[in-house]
Amino acid sequence: MQYTLAILKPDCVERKLTGKIIDFIESHDFEVFRLRKLQLTKKEAQAFYSMHKGRDFYEPLIEFMTSGPCLPIILKKDNAVDAFREVLGATDLNKAADGTIRKLYAETIRRNVVHGSDSDENAKKEIAFFFPTMNILV
Ligand code: UDP
Ligand code: MG
Repeated sequence: MQYTLAILKPDCVERKLTGKIIDFIESHDFEVFRLRKLQLTKKEAQAFYSMHKGRDFYEPLIEFMTSGPCLPIILKKDNAVDAFREVLGATDLNKAADGTIRKLYAETIRRNVVHGSDSDENAKKEIAFFFPTMNILV
């Protein structure tokens, strides 16, 4: 079993898509292992996306991610990291495969509904970021 971190982003919450997305996730055989609802501070969003600091989309991304509540979720499944990236779809909805979350629900490259960890190493870091008591996983 592997764990990955998903975030139902502020656009997902604002558009009342959280139920649909969790249904999608569960119907693809992921277990919703832990879930929170919170609003990121600017500092937290900057830390979470620090790898993108300096990119042209960084500031608007921070603004978007702090604009309202989001739902960080630990997902559990065999090969969870790659399996979740696959059902999530490409960052840009125009490049996302049919049937993926972003193809189905994203509005723009920024407002793309859901985050997913891109490697096992990052999944562990991102899980620890939102669920610091989950040290059993790291
Ligand atoms: N993003 C954006 N414009 C871009 C690329 C990314 O607004 O040109 C946003 C988008 O919300 C994306 C997030 O920044 O999900 C993080 O980018 P990353 O390249 O890590 O994409 P992801 O791993 O989420 O597919
Ligand atoms: Mg990423």
